[in-house]
Amino acid sequence: MKRKSRTTLRNKADKLFSLAIRNRDDHCLACGSAFRLQCAHIVSRRYGATRWSMDNAVCLCARCHLKYTHDPLGWEEWVDDRFGKGRLVQLKLRARQGVAKVDLAAVVESLK
Ligand SMILES: [Zn+2]
Repeated sequence: MKRKSRTTLRNKADKLFSLAIRNRDDHCLACGSAFRLQCAHIVSRRYGATRWSMDNAVCLCARCHLKYTHDPLGWEEWVDDRFGKGRLVQLKLRARQGVAKVDLAAVVESLK
């Protein structure tokens, strides 16, 4: 039961986060397209500490998202070009530092 409600909260946080990123950026930051927009994490969303950080995601179209998913080094280069080298360094540090347990209810609340 507890496990399920945590999964539900995480899905909700993901949905709200994706919406917030797409609303903020409004178009694909790589190619400019406004078609099939998605939320793309800069540092993989597998790291809970930065999974819902607004500075760890950008809006990409499905095509660019897929392209960079299969080219992680090209992705890092794009991020460096776009935001400067500091962004990725900082995000990686925060991601690796981690958090014991993400307060999902607080994340959902902050994204509403
Ligand atoms: Zn694109």
